[in-house]
Amino acid sequence: MIYIGSHISASGGFAEMGKTALKLGADTFAFFTRNPRGGKAKDIDEKDVAALQQIMDEHNFGPLVAHAPYTMNLCSDKADIRKFAKDMFADDMKRMEYLPGNYYNFHPGSHVGQGVETGIDYIVEAMNEVLFPEMKTMVLLEGMAGKGSEIGRNFEELRAIIDKVELKDKVGVCLDTCHLWEAGYDIVTKLDEVLELFDQIVGADRLRAIHLNDSKNPIEAHKDRHELLGEGHIGKDALAAVIRHPRLQGKPFILETPNDDAGYAKEIAWVRSVMQ
Ligand code: FE
Ligand code: FE
Ligand code: ZN
Repeated sequence: MIYIGSHISASGGFAEMGKTALKLGADTFAFFTRNPRGGKAKDIDEKDVAALQQIMDEHNFGPLVAHAPYTMNLCSDKADIRKFAKDMFADDMKRMEYLPGNYYNFHPGSHVGQGVETGIDYIVEAMNEVLFPEMKTMVLLEGMAGKGSEIGRNFEELRAIIDKVELKDKVGVCLDTCHLWEAGYDIVTKLDEVLELFDQIVGADRLRAIHLNDSKNPIEAHKDRHELLGEGHIGKDALAAVIRHPRLQGKPFILETPNDDAGYAKEIAWVRSVMQ
């Protein structure tokens, strides 16, 4: 089995997200730690967090996969943007400690022309400053579609980041089916080989979460356009094979398809109907 859920709006607070997850038939979910475009996060209400924790315990939720804001670019070419991103990252790590044992997923960053090596050095520098030994959250580097100057477009780049991070046991990876496909990994006809390659380059135990999306584009498009499950170029059969893959059992799967809650509930029900 896998855990399945979708992105849920954080605007009503923590317990409200848990209630919405139950309504959708989910047993994990993703939420933005603050406005997706960045900005200040709300103060933590500990009672509200405890109420979510109770829902999660009672309903055997898997780990949540919080998502950093899209604007958090740890490897910008501008020092003030890097500083803004690092401060946001550090603040999110403090806040995640109120919900111990979950994941915090982030896009490694875009090097905006400085080159992959410089970008990776900035990302690692920030991670080495922000991660701390006692933290109860694992951060997940998201594999990217390779749009623009995105870092993390292949397994080698993810590995290169992890290699230079000091607290390696705090770092995992989240693979996104749309991103894999658009990055050029053929998960439709060569899923076993792709996962084997990930194991060889990064290590299977680093893989902690899956973003389950179809893609509006053919393989290797590098555009990053998510599609409803079964309505894109990946298709239902290939997505079902991902859901049922022995190497991916026990992991949280998050839908990031262009949907409202009713659409997510439908997709979650479909995932449950094909899961083993
Ligand atoms: Fe993402
Ligand atoms: Fe994603
Ligand atoms: Zn995406």
